[in-house]
Amino acid sequence: MGFERITSMIQGTKDFTDFSHQISNYETDVFRPIFDEIEKLSGRKYGSTLPPVGSTGENEQEKSDVAFRVVADHIRTLSFAIADGIQPGNTDRNYVLRRILRRAVRYGRTLGFHEPFFFRLVDVVARSMGAVFPEIRAKQKHIEEVLRREEEAFNKTLDRGIEIFEQHLFGPFKSAAAFSASGSKPGVCMSGKLAFELYDTYGFPLDLTQLMARERGYEVDVPEFEKLMEEQRTRARAAQKKEVIELSQIETKTPTHFLGYDLGHAGADVQEIVALKGKTAVILNNSVCYAEMGGQVGDTGELIGAGKLWRVVNTQHSGNTWLHFIDGEDAPVVGEHVTVEYDAPRRAAIQRHHTVTHLLHWALHEIVSKEAVQKGSYVGPEKLTFDFSSAALTPQQRRDVEKRVNEKIEENAPVSWTEIPYVEAKKRSDIQQFFGDKYGELVRVVQVGGQPAGLNGYSMELCGGTHVRTTGDIGSFRIVREEAIAAGIRRIEAVAGDAARDWAKAEAAKQQEKFEALARKKDGIAALPGFADDGETKAMLEQIDARSAHLEKLGTEVLEWEKQNAKASETDLRSRAGTIASELAEAHGGQKSCVAEVPNADAKLLQAVVDALKPKFNGPIFLVGGADGRVALIASIPKELTSKIQANKLIQEVAPIVGGKGGGRPEGAQGAGKDATKIGDALARARELILL
Ligand SMILES: [Zn+2]
Repeated sequence: MGFERITSMIQGTKDFTDFSHQISNYETDVFRPIFDEIEKLSGRKYGSTLPPVGSTGENEQEKSDVAFRVVADHIRTLSFAIADGIQPGNTDRNYVLRRILRRAVRYGRTLGFHEPFFFRLVDVVARSMGAVFPEIRAKQKHIEEVLRREEEAFNKTLDRGIEIFEQHLFGPFKSAAAFSASGSKPGVCMSGKLAFELYDTYGFPLDLTQLMARERGYEVDVPEFEKLMEEQRTRARAAQKKEVIELSQIETKTPTHFLGYDLGHAGADVQEIVALKGKTAVILNNSVCYAEMGGQVGDTGELIGAGKLWRVVNTQHSGNTWLHFIDGEDAPVVGEHVTVEYDAPRRAAIQRHHTVTHLLHWALHEIVSKEAVQKGSYVGPEKLTFDFSSAALTPQQRRDVEKRVNEKIEENAPVSWTEIPYVEAKKRSDIQQFFGDKYGELVRVVQVGGQPAGLNGYSMELCGGTHVRTTGDIGSFRIVREEAIAAGIRRIEAVAGDAARDWAKAEAAKQQEKFEALARKKDGIAALPGFADDGETKAMLEQIDARSAHLEKLGTEVLEWEKQNAKASETDLRSRAGTIASELAEAHGGQKSCVAEVPNADAKLLQAVVDALKPKFNGPIFLVGGADGRVALIASIPKELTSKIQANKLIQEVAPIVGGKGGGRPEGAQGAGKDATKIGDALARARELILL
């Protein structure tokens, strides 16, 4: 049942103010099972009495019978509306529903109900009307749950609200009974302020308060109530946002009409403003912004109101409701008319990537395997990624896929879309679809090639995304990465159009860095081919490829050269060390130890000297070298002497003299320091220690 049906029911009871009308035999028949159930639950009998016109009942039976009719009528209305997906709430038709429920609960009091009872009547509605309206049966549990929650919440405030009402209305007499016992006559006007307080604090809809007042001979000062309501609305406008934790809590179930396949901007009414995780979202009845779905990112754009503009930073959806997330706290007001438009250059970049994703999917089937099943995708303005089940692509396959896609782009084939029944699409093995995905009755097929909308393209996919009009709009396509993301699942990252240009520029800069690093290692390498960032995208990509091939060659060349260089310097080191060792052996011939400085020697050379000296000199060796402001120390003690002198202890003792430290084993140890002016002191201390 839609809003229209609720409306007609409300009209049938003159906006709930008149339940005194005669109900027909047909209606009695329809209501009978519900009356029976109410009788069972309340212990009262329905007496078919009618109060005088304009009265809400003059005796108990009349009042009770009115309550029977109101409750029976409302449980039907509420069951249908909730089955249709409308929830009781604070705005629009959701509030209409809440009003109906609260009035029904209040009438339930007349029948002696103080606990939630309304939800117990859903069963009889489902039983008596479920044949005609099966959705009631299907959603019975849900309806009961919603009603019970609402009833519980309202029951909590109802008693207190009634008390406040009586106290204010009858002043010191506290209750209507005490008031009339005192012989006082009721006034005519109940203050709008009291009605507003009951509404604002206790959730009493105005019509409920009016009803309660009328029963006691009063009329509510409606203009005053309206004035207070308007003041509150003004206050609330500043803080109108509803805080929700998750998308499912959004009250508006009005679907947003997406017009963005064909239009770049559209007029729209603001339905609701919600705050979600600190962000503000505007819900509109129409939108041209694409909401993130099926891998395609949400649009950015603008909402333009009277003399004001809000930036849309993202668009998402909850069911059929679109959420336009806006920058900052400020938002349009509910009911405001705005123009909504998307960021066109960004959308164009996204569309290029979406259509080329379909071409990539097709080419993978052509070149790699029909079994390459799509596992997911991301389509954004800066790139696309496409996940599929497959073994790793060979370099040849990767090149072929890229080439085939670029050929299809150059063909400039039409891209079109059409809606067909899902049952028909299911029969077509040439239309790509995700099995297991939920599709509606009608599905949208996006095709590339063939007659526009003729369902005879070479690429056809069920897809809700937005696309370019011809493949030529895509521009040059480039696969930039192909990698594993899980066992048996590969991911291709690719760019097209302007994104390919941006990628080429960034890649050219990286290539320049690589080249400079190589040039630092070896002089005179062949210069990197040039890169012009203002030409055709295709030419830019070709330059990138040429530079890449050149860099690969240079890399090999420099590596080879480095290897030979290292070999040469190792040979050089050994020969220098041999000469020094021979000189030292000769100079210390006949001595028990060799303690000496090796000018300009670093740790590497000292080690090589010790290695060369040991076969020629059998005794403690201690060498110091100073090079580039650093001091290197090395000690070597023959194994048979380590019980008396240990190389590591020697180094630990001497290194601090040159401002350093070191260590090692008893037979061999090394150290380093910073103070070359103390080399003489270090040698002297080493001689002392070795003599001890
Ligand atoms: Zn798609």
